Amino acid sequence: MNNRKGVIAIDGHSSCGKSTVAKDLAKELGYVYIDTGAMYRAVTLFAMQNGFISENGINESALKAVLNDLNITFKYQAEEKLNETFLNGLSVENEIRGLRVSNNVSAVSTIAFVRHRMVELQQAMGKEGGIVMDGRDIGTVVFPDADLKLFMTASPEIRAQRRYDELKDKDPSDTSIALDSILENVKHRDHVDSTRKESPLKQAEDAVLLDNSHMNKTEQMDWIMNVLKERNLA
Ligand code: C5P
Repeated sequence: MNNRKGVIAIDGHSSCGKSTVAKDLAKELGYVYIDTGAMYRAVTLFAMQNGFISENGINESALKAVLNDLNITFKYQAEEKLNETFLNGLSVENEIRGLRVSNNVSAVSTIAFVRHRMVELQQAMGKEGGIVMDGRDIGTVVFPDADLKLFMTASPEIRAQRRYDELKDKDPSDTSIALDSILENVKHRDHVDSTRKESPLKQAEDAVLLDNSHMNKTEQMDWIMNVLKERNLA
């Protein structure tokens, strides 16, 4: 094992397993995992809780006025192997994963001042290295000099099915979970994420592409570990 602590950036489409890979990789390398999607989700939840989001859109000035006071932190729960997200000291891990937040998060993520603040926080979290960070703009904006950039994708149908299984697994009795609305959400988020003006989702020129549509977890991890070894990061 190499003892240089690097920065690993994982970007890609929604629900293609970025966070699973990032978590496993952080564990393997003894790095800290940072889920930037959870940060955008926490801001979205906060905006919803405070009535800043309505049919008329997002009250940006109200959100801007309080954004710098928002405190977003993570705590690793070893037993559940879960990186729990806290918003102003309260756990919001479950709420931020629901469809209500999922349906609003892409819109909140298009707001330039929200992105600037999140990027600032993310750069501060990773300045000492030893991190695996996943998101949409990590290799392009947050850490353009990352030691390794992975760009992950899979077909929208496969991603929707995985997300469906995950939600059903958490709550098998929840009849509101429907595959077609999840697929719609996946496609919608792809579209908004890749066409927004402010740091759109795109593969960095020096990123390695990983399409895991037909890979299982073990094959995927082996593939990534090979890339890391080639770069002297593992
Ligand atoms: O990764 P996850 O699906 O939880 O991210 C939720 C949403 O947050 C994405 O659909 C995207 O709109 C936004 N996001 C972003 N930039 C990041 C991470 C997430 O715009 N670095």
